[in-house]
Amino acid sequence: MKTPRRDAIIFLVCNREVIGVKREDTFNFAAGPSTMPRSVLEKAAGEMLNYRGTGMSVMEMSHRSAAFLEIFDTAKTSLRELLRVPDSHEILLLQGGATLQFAAIGMNLLSGGAADYAVTGRFSARAAEEAKKYGTVRIAADTSATGHDRIPKQEELKLSEDARYFYYCANNTIYGTEWHYDPQTPCPLVCDMSSDILTRPVDFSRFGLVYAGAQKNMAPAGLTVVIVDKSLVGRELPFTPEIMSYKTMAETDSMLNTPPCWCIYMLCLVLDWVRDMGGIQAMEKRKAERAGMLYDVLDSSRLYIPHARREDRSFMNVTFSTGKKELDAEFVAGAAKRGLVSVRGHKSTGGMRASLYNAMPPEGAKKLADYMREFEREHV
Ligand SMILES: *Cc1c(COP(=O)(O)O)cnc(C)c1O
Repeated sequence: MKTPRRDAIIFLVCNREVIGVKREDTFNFAAGPSTMPRSVLEKAAGEMLNYRGTGMSVMEMSHRSAAFLEIFDTAKTSLRELLRVPDSHEILLLQGGATLQFAAIGMNLLSGGAADYAVTGRFSARAAEEAKKYGTVRIAADTSATGHDRIPKQEELKLSEDARYFYYCANNTIYGTEWHYDPQTPCPLVCDMSSDILTRPVDFSRFGLVYAGAQKNMAPAGLTVVIVDKSLVGRELPFTPEIMSYKTMAETDSMLNTPPCWCIYMLCLVLDWVRDMGGIQAMEKRKAERAGMLYDVLDSSRLYIPHARREDRSFMNVTFSTGKKELDAEFVAGAAKRGLVSVRGHKSTGGMRASLYNAMPPEGAKKLADYMREFEREHV
């Protein structure tokens, strides 16, 4: 009976839910997929078996049915309203994750030409590598020399004359850094906003394309939102698969094939929640409040070492360590015992990472900040 007991101990630390922990006692700091608003899950649960008198779940519905088309249109309209997406830009609801867009951007927008890429973390590095297959990628900045602990300054960016776009990742989920400015460039911006979409206003007149995997701030995994300037659509390389062609997907209103229906429904509910909470402005206020509580602890700490430089640190992912592996593990285990789960850092940074997306209540950040102080008192 030794093996099962050992498993049980691992579950206790890694995943408290399997041993019967209440949701009410848990704050989930996972980086993605991540916590959803409780009221959204309750609403989905209430509509699970019979969606608004249709006699079926949204999961079971034709994507061409009137009920689903209404969900689909509402999701798009809500996104457009909340983010103030102008008519010049098309909203696509796609599959394949943010990762598929690394290649799709190369095929549709780079398209044999040149583009500038800022490499500030794992995802932008992979986006640059992928795009190289479809044109000339110039590295406008690269922060790997200091472990991606910072964001390049405007003056540092090496911009080329002939770039079709400037690519960057607005929030570096793994390293906990965030661009606090939109780069000034002669060409349109292309931006991965997977981990900070819906947390701040976006001036779309500057952006050729914005995209985001849904599983951080919007919906369950399986949906990617792409917001693209219509004037850039239609220049894809001839071998571009039709499922990856922005032109085809725009012409078919993202319904060339079956869209991720359930995720789009959940997105709809999340966007209703964002609106009820007070919209993007309220999300902006909440994010500053949440991250502020943790950064206050880090700023006055003699135990914790923050990963990101102060001026570039992220509102969404707070990264830190004690500098000692065993102590980090003790911190993570102690946090889990208090219902503060998934604070282990990414394997490439080690240490801890607290992801504070829109759905994280400020009480969660407060509880974690209190625990950080308590842990420091016990270990300094
Ligand atoms: C999570 C994440 C990705 C990868 O998303 P997938 O949907 O898993 O492909 C890309 N970029 C950023 C900024 C992310 O946070």
